[in-house]
Amino acid sequence: MAFHRNRRSRASPRDCGLPTRALAALLASAVCLAPACGGAGAGTGASEPIAFDTQRAWRDLAAIVALGPRQAGTSGAEAARTLIERELRAAGLEPQRESFTAETPAGPLAMANVYVDLAAAEGEKSPMVILCTHYDTKRLPFEFLGANDGGSGTAVLLELARCLAKAPREKVTWRLLFLDGEEAVNEAWVDPDNRYGSRHHASELKRKGQASRVEACVLLDMVGDKDLSLERETNSDPRLLGMFVQAAQAAGLADKFSNRSERIKDDHLSFMAVDIPSVDLIDFENGTANEHWHKATDTLENCSAESLGAIGRIVLGGLPAVEAYALSRR
Ligand SMILES: [Zn+2]
Repeated sequence: MAFHRNRRSRASPRDCGLPTRALAALLASAVCLAPACGGAGAGTGASEPIAFDTQRAWRDLAAIVALGPRQAGTSGAEAARTLIERELRAAGLEPQRESFTAETPAGPLAMANVYVDLAAAEGEKSPMVILCTHYDTKRLPFEFLGANDGGSGTAVLLELARCLAKAPREKVTWRLLFLDGEEAVNEAWVDPDNRYGSRHHASELKRKGQASRVEACVLLDMVGDKDLSLERETNSDPRLLGMFVQAAQAAGLADKFSNRSERIKDDHLSFMAVDIPSVDLIDFENGTANEHWHKATDTLENCSAESLGAIGRIVLGGLPAVEAYALSRR
């Protein structure tokens, strides 16, 4: 979800100026990361392809929605964290919890982010790239399941975790981060009543002296709408946005990006505040004329597996360029 938006002129993504040697290496990994890749060398087995499993992501989304509302500070949010951690462990990963108490208009609420690091061979000296989404749902006076708003990004990030767990990791550490408390507690999304999880995570990066290690942040939000139509979001770093636009074109998915240039406030602002270049991949149209956003109709039946698969392919296709960008900033 993202609340505030203003119309702006159309964004113009730029080339990122990739270093030649890194580009060559990353083109190879791009082949490995691409869906339906049958090339040798991908993953831990010599002939094992790394592909985004659309149906697996869809099953994850169904499981997340079946939990019911996932409002920050409630048992529903805890159930979501348990599901996320279970799936990450099943992929052979070691999730970490980042618990904290958020001061909200409803009083102090216990919140927790969940993250997992896919460490590069070079360890803590390596640049880090954060891939993130929020899993919480908005407090509303009706049953709000947030299949698209909170659910879709979570399902896609879980499947991306499985993909990246099998991919070779040499120079960049990937942090997959599931955020609590993106939604405002009050009805209106007015600072500081929003982005509790991402603001906490960003402040912790800063406090630990790790923020300078993070060279890019890719946020997924509201990516499961049946008619996927991504914004050219103008708070986003145009270089990073351009990488995913190009990846969509390369994958034959150019139509998944709209021509809308929207300025959206979302979790990426928390990372931009600590000088991390960030991009928000989001479809704020969420059904024709935004009809399902924060409505009881934000349900599984108004999402589609095809959209989850499309965003999964776009993100995987863009990551080699993001990796090269992260290395180029060193
Ligand atoms: Zn929302």
